[in-house]
Amino acid sequence: MIDRRLLLAGAAGLAGIAGLRWLNSGDVEAADAFEIQKSDSEWRSVLTKAQYEVLRLRRTEPPGSSPLNDEKRKGTFVCAGCDLPVFSSETKYDSKTGWPSFYRPLPNAIGTATDHLLLLPRTEVHCRRCGGHLGHVFEDGPPPTGLRYCMNGLALKFIPDAPA
Ligand SMILES: [Zn+2]
Repeated sequence: MIDRRLLLAGAAGLAGIAGLRWLNSGDVEAADAFEIQKSDSEWRSVLTKAQYEVLRLRRTEPPGSSPLNDEKRKGTFVCAGCDLPVFSSETKYDSKTGWPSFYRPLPNAIGTATDHLLLLPRTEVHCRRCGGHLGHVFEDGPPPTGLRYCMNGLALKFIPDAPA
């Protein structure tokens, strides 16, 4: 067994270094904490099945499956659930993981929580406005943040900048 105190110490250290907001209980906020509220059937009607599975069921798309991996244009990545701008192309980089990766989100765009879906706790990333699950954040990213926001392409839509 892994010592729970060690895990907690590690988690606290991570949170301190990364400056992430960790929630008390470690779970995603109650659904009514989000600005955009839809019933499960409403979400099913506005999202594709694949988008629904990632955004609402917190599934992870297969690596290498997203066309956004190869998206290199300047523009903005918005939440596929509610169109909130969440990442800029300026902070996108090739992490070689098979998922669209960024080193920093846009201001006031995301929320984080700890999930325990795997043995070790991970920091889950969701849209601050609709609560849709976007991906996870890890501490093996590039400068200047050292963070890797590992996103599901299905949870994002890309809006290219208008030509100058
Ligand atoms: Zn959203």
